[in-house]
Amino acid sequence: TKYVFAFTEGDKDKKDLLGGKGANLAEMMKLGIPVPPGFTITTEACRAYLAQGSSPDTLGVEVTTALRQMEADMGKKLGDPDDLLLLSVRSGAKFSMPGMMETVLNIGLNDQSVEGLARKSGNPRFAWDSYRRLIQMFGKTVLDIDGDYFADALDAAKDKRGVTQDTELDVDALKELVDVYKDIVERETGVPFPQTPREQMDKAIEAVFRSWNTDRAKIYRRRERIPHDLGTAVNVQAMVFGNMGDKSGTGVCFTRDPSTGHTGVYGDYLVNAQGEDVVAGIRNTLPLDALKELDEKSYNELMANLHTLETHYRDMCDIEFTVEEGKLWLLQTRVGKRTASAAFRIASQLVEERLITRDEALTRVNGEQLTQLLFPQFDDEAEKITLTKGMAASPGAAVGEIVFNNAEAVARTKAGADVILVRRETNPDDLEGMVVASGILTARGGKTSHAAVVARGMGRCCVVGAEELYVDESTETVTIRGSDRVLKAGDVIAIDGTSGYVYLGDVPVTPSPVSIYIEEGLEAGIAAAHDDETKELVAAVDLLLTHADKRARLKVRANADAPEDVARARKFGATGIGLCRTEHMFLGDRRQLIETVILAETPEEQNAAFEALSPLQRGDFVGILEAMDGLPTTIRLIDPPLHEFLPDITDLTVKIAVKEATGVEVTEKERKLLKAVREQHEQNPMLGLRGVRLGLKIRGLFGLQIRAIAEAAADRIEAGGDPRPEIMVPLVGSVRELQIIREDAEEIIAAVEESRGVTLNIQIGAMIELPRAAMTAHSLTEESDFFSFGTNDLTQTAWGFSRDDVESTFFNEYFDLGVFGVSPFESIDVRGVGKLVAVGVEKARSVKPDIKCGVCGEHGGDPQSIHFFDAVGLDYVSCSPFRVPVARLEAGRAAV
Ligand code: ADP
Ligand code: MG
Ligand code: MG
Repeated sequence: TKYVFAFTEGDKDKKDLLGGKGANLAEMMKLGIPVPPGFTITTEACRAYLAQGSSPDTLGVEVTTALRQMEADMGKKLGDPDDLLLLSVRSGAKFSMPGMMETVLNIGLNDQSVEGLARKSGNPRFAWDSYRRLIQMFGKTVLDIDGDYFADALDAAKDKRGVTQDTELDVDALKELVDVYKDIVERETGVPFPQTPREQMDKAIEAVFRSWNTDRAKIYRRRERIPHDLGTAVNVQAMVFGNMGDKSGTGVCFTRDPSTGHTGVYGDYLVNAQGEDVVAGIRNTLPLDALKELDEKSYNELMANLHTLETHYRDMCDIEFTVEEGKLWLLQTRVGKRTASAAFRIASQLVEERLITRDEALTRVNGEQLTQLLFPQFDDEAEKITLTKGMAASPGAAVGEIVFNNAEAVARTKAGADVILVRRETNPDDLEGMVVASGILTARGGKTSHAAVVARGMGRCCVVGAEELYVDESTETVTIRGSDRVLKAGDVIAIDGTSGYVYLGDVPVTPSPVSIYIEEGLEAGIAAAHDDETKELVAAVDLLLTHADKRARLKVRANADAPEDVARARKFGATGIGLCRTEHMFLGDRRQLIETVILAETPEEQNAAFEALSPLQRGDFVGILEAMDGLPTTIRLIDPPLHEFLPDITDLTVKIAVKEATGVEVTEKERKLLKAVREQHEQNPMLGLRGVRLGLKIRGLFGLQIRAIAEAAADRIEAGGDPRPEIMVPLVGSVRELQIIREDAEEIIAAVEESRGVTLNIQIGAMIELPRAAMTAHSLTEESDFFSFGTNDLTQTAWGFSRDDVESTFFNEYFDLGVFGVSPFESIDVRGVGKLVAVGVEKARSVKPDIKCGVCGEHGGDPQSIHFFDAVGLDYVSCSPFRVPVARLEAGRAAV
């Protein structure tokens, strides 16, 4: 196996093997963009290392060969004080995981070569600064030493000299600092800082391999649904130096604004700094325009390269660059992460610029992003007390209690509070707090700081660089400079990730213009937008959603069971109801009647209860059929076990026991109830008397519902409507079950048709939620006009999981052990449960080629699942009303 590829050997399509960073570095080389030479160690080598705990045997040799080639190209040698080649060792997985894994810069420096570098560069300050950075990064990432030791020593050095910036430390100070750092290494590890360049490099490579499995990397992958078994590639690259003085610097930029999607280059620049300083928010950065003033030649060259990259990738790119003494180098590029609104605006801009087609534009946005745009925003009209303004880093409106660290963030959210994580700046250790917080606020850093990048990725509201804030993490207070206001942990603030404003106290929120567009159409949406950017956004969403509807093969229905929800679903673009549950219609006041049905000792008693329920049910259905007039409406007959309508067994037993013990009379009804509750009690209600089984045991119950549906349809027809009810029988396992219900139903429907003098076109179909039903779908087809896969229950029955029991007991372990990356209840388990769906569809269609098949259940609103359902040829997905726009977009995306 070949484990090492020079940058000249790769290209952007080899991300599996070379990781995103390595593949794109190679692509830039091909485009003739100035990239420092280097090579990539494959993800395969990382996987081998992680599996066996050591690098593959041949890796060392391959690295030597590649390194020598690099040395020959550069005319320099690793660690040679006279012609010094220094290296960076950089992580880079297939999917970008910003700040999650490790990178070590300035590899190759030691006590001798630092002198050589000082001499050769004529810049001793730079040489010693680089050396102290190496020891610091190497100590922290490779040797696992607590980074605070180094940070504290750095602060102490600055204090001692009365300076505030790293750049103000002179050579002597840096030499002293190097000694302190070396002492820290020796004290913490028992051995001196390694002086051999090759040893430094090899250790750094292995540390990058290992960084794949840090806790924070795992948390990040779980969130982003990145598989745990990919591993990272490692890029070894010649160093270029942004910390050589005032003619050098380093920066990050985007070809369009990643938070708003504004056209035009956007970026941050730091003079006399090395790589990580920008992202770490150590100093406040300058806007990119500053580079134009400082070094117009490098600036122009950078602009030309950005243009080349955007044209080549046909998308917004982000770039890391460094200027070394007036010479520009690009160190990284990738298709840039962006906020949801930027994604939509950029996609529609690129369509307008004729750089991509509408179909391609659909691939540039996704349902999750659309969800984010539907979030409410702060009410413009509301009175607000402005505390300060920072940079808008990730949009949204968040209100919550101030917390200063992960522990508080987790504890307060567990207690039900919304929290805002407030930090001077964030670093990867803050991830846990960022995940649970409603919003993130930092005092330092730019739009490309850690906080901003991570928050955008998570769709979390974030404001950064609010410089007026003085955050004292030790006393847990925030002071606003120039005012005497001091905020403590627990105080409520509101942050606006779209404008950067920070407000005191609770601020009311209003619906987003995009959600108004979804509900009321383009004109209303645009009217609700307060600025041109938002108007453009609404138009962009319309462009893409309209195209998605045009392209989609899958139809989108909604799960809804109250007329208001049905109406809302229709506004959101649902083309029918895929699942109208009926059980809640037996709750509240009606519970009493169901109790009577269960307790009835004679058919007469039972029928009386049915008679009482009948008009009520009919009323429910009239409302729903009216709201969905002209569109198919699948009504599921009652599904849950009867005990759900009865009092809890323990409560009732206790109540009666207490009565007996205190001599209070126990009524006849209570005794009967207890008896019934005992009889109905099941060990595994999920697998017990429910669905069609219940319908067969208490025939009148389904009969009541079927009659109510038929009567309601007749009512609607008489009122001039166009009702399209479909009756769905839950939990069918055998064709005989369905046949019996069907015969009953046909009889009832015929009777209603006759008595009302109307023709009712009511389809009857089975809900497929048992493996047996899926495997025998061809025979069920004989009695079924349609099928709907109930994938929630199908997941439970295929895995033998009871959802309520398993999710809280062992799913976390299952994620950690890699049994699944994402819960099978969230995203369809393609290989198992999905296979049952595929087989069911295939068997059904082998008998009735155009039998309508759909899916209802949570998966109907899950993007990945939707793509799967499209692929297996389902006719529709049904999801909750709020997911309908998302499902429409995804159905369109699945078709292109
Ligand atoms: P991440 O994946 O976290 O972005 P990188 O590997 O890109 O980490 O490196 C971290 C920082 O170090 C970046 O700012 C990058 O530009 C800088 N850097 C990496 N390699 C070099 C190099 N060869 N010369 C100069 N700076 C470098
Ligand atoms: Mg980077
Ligand atoms: Mg079910």
